[in-house]
Amino acid sequence: MSDRVVLLGTKGGPALRAGGAMPTASLLEMDGRRVVVDCAIGVTKGLVEAGMDLRALDLIFITHLHSDHVLELGPLIHTAWTTGLKTPVTVYGPPGIDAYWAGFLASMAYDNAIRVADEGRVPLGDLVQVVVYGEGVVLDGPLRVSALRVPHPPVVDAFALRFEGARVVTFSGDTAYFPPLAEFARGSDVLVHEALLPAGVEAIIAKTGLGDKLRNHLFASHTKAVDVGRIAQAAGVGRLVLNHLVPADDAEITAADWLAEVAQTFAGDAAVGTDGMEILL
Ligand SMILES: [Zn+2]
Ligand SMILES: [Zn+2]
Repeated sequence: MSDRVVLLGTKGGPALRAGGAMPTASLLEMDGRRVVVDCAIGVTKGLVEAGMDLRALDLIFITHLHSDHVLELGPLIHTAWTTGLKTPVTVYGPPGIDAYWAGFLASMAYDNAIRVADEGRVPLGDLVQVVVYGEGVVLDGPLRVSALRVPHPPVVDAFALRFEGARVVTFSGDTAYFPPLAEFARGSDVLVHEALLPAGVEAIIAKTGLGDKLRNHLFASHTKAVDVGRIAQAAGVGRLVLNHLVPADDAEITAADWLAEVAQTFAGDAAVGTDGMEILL
């Protein structure tokens, strides 16, 4: 297994459109570990398509509780369980992740009980440990994971995550432009950073009919591509990958448009994320 990041879903926001990208989920494979970062709808299919055996599900990190990062967490674990998962899964998430998981188990109580009684499975709840994390070191050891609180109003518990093993990979999570993220990501081989293209925002406003409220949220809570370049440049990352694209499904906007913005502030290697994109480490 070569060390890699696979982007499973690359659009920002929860809405789906025909032919468009899926919302945020990623797979990091490093030093023989498999880590799922965020679990939007589509994560389960995305992992299978990326070649992962769901019975090997082990570590999951959720950056924050917006639905485009957590909606399919329960269904992913449940599907791994019905695929034959027998080993423990640990879910690291911000405060509230424990309530999400308890609610999911409650919603599936009928099916879970039947599968234990009828199919002899280990109770699903017994396989899963939920760990609520905050800023700082989340996991220590050969795989070291640390979290930085990032500004993503009105969400308070939103985090960037840095994974250190043979390589270093940092995910920005959802964040407004946040210069301290450059220090946090310093020396990363790969920085996966969310990005917004101002030219495409007005088209989204028109399409959703949500007006000023959505416009204000987008600019207060996300990072323009030109500012993403500033972070990558200051951090000295090996490679920048744009993710959580807003907009993600505007035919008028091409990868060249995104990269032109980034190139104003970042001199290194940059790529625009697409669903299924594999980045070798
Ligand atoms: Zn999001
Ligand atoms: Zn968000």
